[in-house]
Amino acid sequence: MIALIDGNNFYASCERIFNYEWRGRPVVVLSNNDGCAIARSNEAKALGIPMGEPYFKLKHFEKTHGLVVCSANFVLYGDISNRVVQITRRYCNDIEVYSIDESFLFLDGYSNQLQRMVDLRRDVLQGLDLPTSIGIAPSKTLAKVANKIAKKFPDRTGSVYMLDSWKKIEAALKWFPIDDLWGIGRRYNDKFRSYGAHTAWDFTQFPDGFLKQEMGILGLRMKKELLGEAQYSMSVPEPKKMISTTRTFDTGHAEYDYVHERVSTFASECARKLREQKSCCRHVTVFIMTDRFKQNQVQYSDSFTVTLPNPSNSSIDISKYAKKALDHIFIQGPKYRKAGVITGTFVPENERMTSLFDIDNQERHAPIMKAMDSMNSRLGKQKVKLASMDVQTTWKMDQKHLSPKYSTSFYDSIILKA
Ligand SMILES: [Mg+2]
Repeated sequence: MIALIDGNNFYASCERIFNYEWRGRPVVVLSNNDGCAIARSNEAKALGIPMGEPYFKLKHFEKTHGLVVCSANFVLYGDISNRVVQITRRYCNDIEVYSIDESFLFLDGYSNQLQRMVDLRRDVLQGLDLPTSIGIAPSKTLAKVANKIAKKFPDRTGSVYMLDSWKKIEAALKWFPIDDLWGIGRRYNDKFRSYGAHTAWDFTQFPDGFLKQEMGILGLRMKKELLGEAQYSMSVPEPKKMISTTRTFDTGHAEYDYVHERVSTFASECARKLREQKSCCRHVTVFIMTDRFKQNQVQYSDSFTVTLPNPSNSSIDISKYAKKALDHIFIQGPKYRKAGVITGTFVPENERMTSLFDIDNQERHAPIMKAMDSMNSRLGKQKVKLASMDVQTTWKMDQKHLSPKYSTSFYDSIILKA
């Protein structure tokens, strides 16, 4: 059997951990730059606030319904996520961390699986004050279905639900809307609905040949998974083949220095991600673009790719080549609204082939990068920077409602008065 543990309204629940008085109140977490809702507590959902709602449209609930608004605090969420994983590992050796708030557990070999998961849920709730839902079923796709049932009917299921008989599976499939199926995108959803299929059960009634023709091998696999035949085992995360950092600026910027600082910061962030997966890149691409919605302003966008003489994951090197790429495309005049750095063509860090004639900085920079990474992981992201990055941190994300880093920063610890 496979279990799926999933944090309920994860970001919103993380915010509530440290603010007891927010319990029972609607809570919304906003995307970068306080743009729109990316997580909602049940109370916020009950107010009819949809996912992706822009802040200005939900602001009025702050006064009328005591809505709490938080800027996304990914450092906090990442840390809580790690703690959930730590607890989960106590209950199962084979786990696949699927996303920041979801993990699959491969339970074969464990006895009393349902009770085991009930205990896990209780432990996370008691240890972290974080509500989760757990679904248990013979396949990953069915575990997702079971999880939704656990989440939707907490009173009936105690937030843990197991599909352990064909009778239960059949009932679940007949209840489950086809659009909520894992792997059914909008495109397939519209298509299957037009064929009169509305539930997961309807999906399983299509002949194999038809599903293969409509969705390829994925369709067949999904049918088998829904019928309880596991098609997907534990997947080992593959190193990424492309790493990019891209941002939209708060407003248009025409100044070279501003755009250069941003590009340098993005390059440095790409290099850090490369070091994390122990890869080096051969290509660095930079793109810049103006705001395409402001048609009364000069429109311009371009990109340029630089090939590195030697594969690298040094922030110093990658920033240097990103600057070269930027200098190729930057022109005076347009107001730039977005920029990004993309690194590609990876080689494993320990299998680098270096050029005979070009100077190789990798070995020289490695200890500096190591020191930088370890200090940044202790002190907070980008505390130690390159000189080409903004040392005064005049640039900041718009995060007016940011909660403290309670669990990762000593200075943000909660003080208890006894
Ligand atoms: Mg979730």
